[in-house]
Amino acid sequence: MKCLYCGQKEGIYPLKQWNKDEIEYYCEDHIKQAEKFNEKQKRAFYEYYKNELHRSWLSPKSRELWEKIHKETATPKSRE
Ligand SMILES: [Zn+2]
Repeated sequence: MKCLYCGQKEGIYPLKQWNKDEIEYYCEDHIKQAEKFNEKQKRAFYEYYKNELHRSWLSPKSRELWEKIHKETATPKSRE
């Protein structure tokens, strides 16, 4: 395991990919950058498929993913 950006092997952190069940690893310098990128992609996907017509083009699996993000977004964890 090593940082995907710079190849460093020590002090690396796992980052779950938003669109697949895969973990990628980044060093302390790059984890923030990777998280931001991951979040940005997720947000773009979510926003685009908020449109029901666009959503109808998705595969069932991708649609499931969208629904999951929607649930996370619609119910903030802080609200009990
Ligand atoms: Zn790195």
